[in-house]
Amino acid sequence: MHKTSPKRLDCFMAEANAAYYAKKNPFEDFITSPEISQIFGELIAVWTIMVGRSIMEKMPQSASFCLVEAGPGRGTLMADILRVMRKAAPDLYTRCKLYLVETSPRLREIQRIALKDHEAITVQWLDSVYELPEMPMVFLANEFLDALPIRQFVKISEQAWDEIYVQDGMKIREIVERCPESPIFHRPVAIGDVVEICEEGQAIIAFLGKHVFKHNGAALFIDYGYAQPVWGDSLQALAEGKPVSPFIEPGCADLTAHIDFCSLAEIARNTGATVYGIQTQGRFLSQLGIMARAQKLSAHANREEQQQIQAAIHRLIAPEQMGTLFKVMALCSPNIAEPPGFMEDERNNDNG
Ligand code: SAH
Repeated sequence: MHKTSPKRLDCFMAEANAAYYAKKNPFEDFITSPEISQIFGELIAVWTIMVGRSIMEKMPQSASFCLVEAGPGRGTLMADILRVMRKAAPDLYTRCKLYLVETSPRLREIQRIALKDHEAITVQWLDSVYELPEMPMVFLANEFLDALPIRQFVKISEQAWDEIYVQDGMKIREIVERCPESPIFHRPVAIGDVVEICEEGQAIIAFLGKHVFKHNGAALFIDYGYAQPVWGDSLQALAEGKPVSPFIEPGCADLTAHIDFCSLAEIARNTGATVYGIQTQGRFLSQLGIMARAQKLSAHANREEQQQIQAAIHRLIAPEQMGTLFKVMALCSPNIAEPPGFMEDERNNDNG
């Protein structure tokens, strides 16, 4: 006798991650770029300011815009961005309305504390991107998409697919009546191969593409995943910093999957938004001036701090670290200037 009824993988993953982010401190299990070094946030601030200026230049002086972050974690990235913006672009700083898309009440509280120095800015927390106001915006998301639930399908014949479910801590397969819509089903997948789709991610990208097209703006996504049209089982789980079975008791581990940036870019292009990337994080940060920023910080640092800065830079941009696995993609309204970081020039201090 089975103890539980089968749960479709995306339902299982959604429940597991909601429980995980509600009760655990995710940053004991993994470290993200903003937590590695303040330089990451400072460079994203440069990006935000340049893109923000481009968006706002045709607007009246008094007009405001939304600065949005989805899945802000501990609020570190946004705290670094606001610190730079207040100093380097006070005009934009006073014109932004901050929206944080976060489902975990625990993390909302941590974010509120992280941003307490910015009383001048109104902050609103939202449960989902669909609640964003119809206004110009700069939207940012670092390691947000990878936490969204995925479905997995196994091709069993030219016409038929199985779908993965979870039951009693194990994965099981059930035949699918009809596959959902996704560019991935149009690829030359072989029998026995696994494909993943993140319906929530696809819907969010489609929504944001339409939003920036219609209301002016840009959305930046940084996450690990594929820039090529490839597929496979990428579901992974981390507990106490170590890989574990994704199907253990929900809430004990952080479940993530690689992002299929190719499919997301295709969906975004269909909304009318201009898509930039898919760039590697190494190249993106290099083009934003990571080396110059590190040198400037090092000039005021002692030897130990200089070594820490070097180690952080290496972690963020070296190909064998986060430089190549992590990808960057931006969706922009077609009337704004090309955002920085997306040149393909291999000579440009290429660490990707
Ligand atoms: N961006 C942060 C944190 C990444 S962890 C960083 O780079 O450090 C993922 C974040 O997304 C957490 O804040 C988590 O609570 C949030 N999150 C996960 N699923 C979500 C969902 N469906 N809607 C909104 N936020 C979500």
